[in-house]
Amino acid sequence: MLRNVSTTAVILFCTAALTAYGGQDWKSGIPWQKPAAVVPAQNPAEPPADAVVLFDGKDLNAWDKNSWLIENGELVCNPGKGSLSTKQKFASVQLHIEFAVPKDISGKGQARGNSGVFWGGYEVQVLDSYNEDTYFDGQCGAIYKQCPPLVNVCRKPGEWQSYDIIFNRPELKTENGVVRVIRPAYITVLQNGVLIINHHQIQGTTFFNRPPAYEAHADKMPLMLQDHGNKTRFRNIWVREIPDTDAHPEPVKAAYYE
Ligand code: MG
Repeated sequence: MLRNVSTTAVILFCTAALTAYGGQDWKSGIPWQKPAAVVPAQNPAEPPADAVVLFDGKDLNAWDKNSWLIENGELVCNPGKGSLSTKQKFASVQLHIEFAVPKDISGKGQARGNSGVFWGGYEVQVLDSYNEDTYFDGQCGAIYKQCPPLVNVCRKPGEWQSYDIIFNRPELKTENGVVRVIRPAYITVLQNGVLIINHHQIQGTTFFNRPPAYEAHADKMPLMLQDHGNKTRFRNIWVREIPDTDAHPEPVKAAYYE
């Protein structure tokens, strides 16, 4: 008799618990497209199978000119020879890039290994900020003159560092010569695996001599590495084009919810 009472109590408890949580599985009903399968690299710094490799130590075929140097599989800025832009243009992207400012730099402030990683006219600063101050929204990892990094995770000059950048392009519309921002650009940056820029809303082109402002540009733009007069090095550069943040995959005919 006692056993029966106990069993009944368990059944009642389970029924109450199921009722409390709705009692059945809930599904959104949205027939999402099946996510594409992508083979990841063994090392997350290496390109996954669907990445566009921009520099793997061998050549500058992905870039608009070959005026920079390749030394020991590393891409070295050749001061005075101009910035490098990708031949291919990209919409929103995930970008991985590794850099090292010169070990023997002796300049001050902005003259310490200055370079930059750009999508169109928007710069993530490359600089030595290990033990050297400059204006904070111009230090390494800053969105230039718009937003300092959350923390300073710089390594010493000469040591390799990484950026993983998620850049969501802006949507702009020009009407009667006036640029309207339909959707601003947003950027997230991890430096050496640490979050330093968290979904920052970009205010416009990152000028050095005036406040940021949006200027008309195409939906897809080249990526650019800046020649700022320093022999800063780069390696292992790859990119993946990604959907815009407010773009949902197109629902397809229901496969799982019919
Ligand atoms: Mg720069």
